[in-house]
Amino acid sequence: MEISKNHLTEEQIQVTQFCGTEPPFSGKLLNEKRNGYYKCAVCSEILFDSSTKYDSRSGWPSFFDAIEEKIETKIDSSLGMVRTEILCKNCSSHLGHVFPDGPKPTGNRYCVNSLSLEFELNE
Ligand SMILES: [Zn+2]
Repeated sequence: MEISKNHLTEEQIQVTQFCGTEPPFSGKLLNEKRNGYYKCAVCSEILFDSSTKYDSRSGWPSFFDAIEEKIETKIDSSLGMVRTEILCKNCSSHLGHVFPDGPKPTGNRYCVNSLSLEFELNE
């Protein structure tokens, strides 16, 4: 089934469909600290929970865990580096990368573009 992308901005298309990266410290969700869910900006699947968000000082929203069954990983060897790309399993949109330098308990750092996410407040 084709998922509508009409609601996305030019920047969101670039990041989610063409593996783009927003400039560090530019994302609207970087400093979001409220309780809620982070959903895929393209298909609205819930991908991250605010309880796993932390400040990694990388300039991108970071999580030490994801809602595992909603995320797909793929080896990305572009830019002369080997990284693990993370994608939305439901619609294959690019989210960011996961690195093994996160805090306990997982040791993972899911580094995600704000442009790939939509925040939903849960009060
Ligand atoms: Zn999606």
